[in-house]
Amino acid sequence: MRSRYAAFVLKLPDYLRATWHESSRPETLSLEDSPDWTSLQILDTNQSGDRGSVLFRAVYRLGKGWGFLEENSDFVREQGRWYYLRGDTSEGQLKPGRNEPCPCGSGRKHKACCL
Ligand SMILES: [Zn+2]
Repeated sequence: MRSRYAAFVLKLPDYLRATWHESSRPETLSLEDSPDWTSLQILDTNQSGDRGSVLFRAVYRLGKGWGFLEENSDFVREQGRWYYLRGDTSEGQLKPGRNEPCPCGSGRKHKACCL
C-alpha cells in the first residue's frame, strides 16, 4: 500500500498498473494531472485471509491551503502478492490548527512551518 502511494508521488504509472488487480485495472493511467502529495496517513487497516483494506489520507498543496484525498482501498492476495482492487474516495480541504502537525509532513507544528 505504501509502495503504491510512493508510486503516485513519484509518478510511476507502470508500477501502479502492475499492482492493480486485472479485474479492475485501467487500460491506461496518466498521472500528469495529479497533485503534489505532501504526506500520507494510514488511518486504519484490516485483513482477513486473502482480503485486506486500508483507509488512508493523502494530503497535497491546494493554493495557500491544503487538500486531502481519503480512500478506503480494497486489496486481494493472489499467489502471495497483494493487488489493489478498488476504493471509495472522498476529498476535502484541511484546516490545520496552529499547534497541529504541519500537513507538509515535516513533523513540525503548523505555526512554525508552512503557516
Ligand atoms: Zn510545513
